[in-house]
Amino acid sequence: MKLLLALFLASSLAITVRADDLKTVEAFRDAAAKANSTLTVPDWDQTPETIEASMKSAIATANAALDQIGAQDLTKVTFKSTIVALDDLGYQARLAANKATIIKETNTSEAMRTAAENAVKLFQDWAVGVDYREDVYKAVKAFEKTNPKLDGEDAKLLKETLRDYRRAGLDLPPSKRQEVEKLRKDLAKLGTDFDSNIVNVQAPVVFTGAELDGVPESFLTSPGIKTADDAYTVKANVTWQYITVMENARSEAVRKRLYVIHDTMAKENVGVLNQMLALRNKTALRLGYKSWADFQTEVKMAKSGAGAEKYINDLITGTQPKFTAEVAELQKLKAADTKDANAKIFTWDFRYYQNQLKKQKYAVDTEALRVFFPFQKTLEGMFNIYQRIFDLKFEKIAVPQKWVDDLELHAVTDATTGEPLGLFYLDMFPREGKFNHFAEFEIIGGKLLPNGKYQRPTVALLCNFPPPSEGKPSLLTHGDVETLFHEFGHALHAIVTRAKHSRFAGTNVPGDFVEAPSQMLQNWVWDKPVLDTFAADFRDPTKMIPAETITKMKEAKLATVGVYYRRQFAFASLDLALHAPHPEGKPYDSVAISNPILEKVFLPIAPETTFVSYFGHLNGYDAGYYGYAWADAIAADMATVFESAKEGYLDKQAGLHLRHEIYEPGDSRHVTESIEKFLGRKQSVQPFLKKIGIGGAQKSR
Ligand SMILES: [Zn+2]
Repeated sequence: MKLLLALFLASSLAITVRADDLKTVEAFRDAAAKANSTLTVPDWDQTPETIEASMKSAIATANAALDQIGAQDLTKVTFKSTIVALDDLGYQARLAANKATIIKETNTSEAMRTAAENAVKLFQDWAVGVDYREDVYKAVKAFEKTNPKLDGEDAKLLKETLRDYRRAGLDLPPSKRQEVEKLRKDLAKLGTDFDSNIVNVQAPVVFTGAELDGVPESFLTSPGIKTADDAYTVKANVTWQYITVMENARSEAVRKRLYVIHDTMAKENVGVLNQMLALRNKTALRLGYKSWADFQTEVKMAKSGAGAEKYINDLITGTQPKFTAEVAELQKLKAADTKDANAKIFTWDFRYYQNQLKKQKYAVDTEALRVFFPFQKTLEGMFNIYQRIFDLKFEKIAVPQKWVDDLELHAVTDATTGEPLGLFYLDMFPREGKFNHFAEFEIIGGKLLPNGKYQRPTVALLCNFPPPSEGKPSLLTHGDVETLFHEFGHALHAIVTRAKHSRFAGTNVPGDFVEAPSQMLQNWVWDKPVLDTFAADFRDPTKMIPAETITKMKEAKLATVGVYYRRQFAFASLDLALHAPHPEGKPYDSVAISNPILEKVFLPIAPETTFVSYFGHLNGYDAGYYGYAWADAIAADMATVFESAKEGYLDKQAGLHLRHEIYEPGDSRHVTESIEKFLGRKQSVQPFLKKIGIGGAQKSR
């Protein structure tokens, strides 16, 4: 996951640390000056009042800059006084929003978090209005009319700025423009309702001990599960609880009951979604697009709804034999289990029988692997690998203002030239009120500043790894390690950027590409030579992970990958279908569109379910879910560069190539060009097909 957000700190806990053995940011300032760049530790607001004041001041500054653009003499407009000025002011305002976001996600004080949340909302409301500043738009158009000779990144910035205005409706006659503005505001409101309905769902389901036969004891004794004598309350809205029961409950009736409740959650969203679809469709039509999918994909690699749809449909067809074979394996298990030769695999069965398959056939004990991944050693191991392949140096430095005791700050420099490239914070363990997933957040993006210096980025990793306990280090699962390699990849993408304009810097790349480099890095933790550089039993560091264990893990993954991807493709496909061309006056029935696709592409469902009502991606990733599979294919394709390199995933030449051709340019040139430069050839979907067991010599089982 990749979130552009940011951070903060509890005033009462703000401690200034100047440990003697740690350098400070100051120590890097000379080297930065030599490289004509600047390295910055944010000044964190310490009270709810200053959070609000900072945001208001940032908005006022941005408004003044907008006024200045709008008030200039239209006969003297320049690239700098219009297009770059817009990039500058948007960047400055985002710095305040990023900081507020980090405070909202990390502060130990609820009052601080609430103030920060309000500040972020203030920013979002302001940001929508920026598009509709006619005076500013006139200045931009006046500059366009000068027929400027721009090239490269500058030409791209002008083109995309104009595109933003067109997409907001500024090219339309005033009455239609106002209609689009209103549609956008109404949509934003409905989107908030849709999200709130999902966040607010409570779906406790009470089972008896006998009903939960098969579910591990460790689950039944988890805090909050046992709620009375022989009564266990499973919250369908809490993912880990839902999945544990779906993977382990022997009773089909129990699995079905829980699944129906789960896939009917936030049912009131069906109506909300139908309205959203109608408004999105209307907006797209007013702006001259055939569908919302066309509108959304225009700015992505896919370019059109049809392009995304074809991609997913080809994968659906391509995975058919592998998917059929996997379901047949599961069916055999169910037939033996139920003594019914004709037993069918339904949506409420796949997790349970996949789990059975993994246990019976592959015997991989994922819990036992934790001893190989103590947190600190794993982190250092990953650092060593990334420093080596990307020619970087990471140094832990003193944190000037801490929002939590174990917060770390690290400086990144180029290992060869010593040029400082950026800073990253690590906030790695869970606590009350903190962001509860794993993500990289941009705090300060890269940008060539008006004073001619380059602002180097500062980012944060907010994670929730298992905390250390008395006498025992934090021990990660293999999945945690994969997540760490993935998220830190986003941090590097942001930090080593060389893009001039903030719009193009770091991870500000098309949504169907942004995950690809990080998804590629997940391969590293499935590679024995990589793992052997750091993964050792913490009780006896001479013990490495046995090769046959890694092989079995890969086999188990391959044996279930068809079902995994078909479910992904079903989601992508229904999302595109909901946003496909649709007659303007015709009401939407989102369930009637999506349920048949779930059945056709994935597995039989219970007809009364309303899967889309709880599918949060439909607000935010709308007509964009296909992007995960899209990026997966690019990730597998890019991985081949390392796989054919002399030192495999540890190859420095391939790593530097990735740094220079993918990470550094960001979106300053078309990502397709960057990908092809990195690959040294056109893109291919074959490596992805091979990876999921349906291409080349890979036989389907
Ligand atoms: Zn990600």
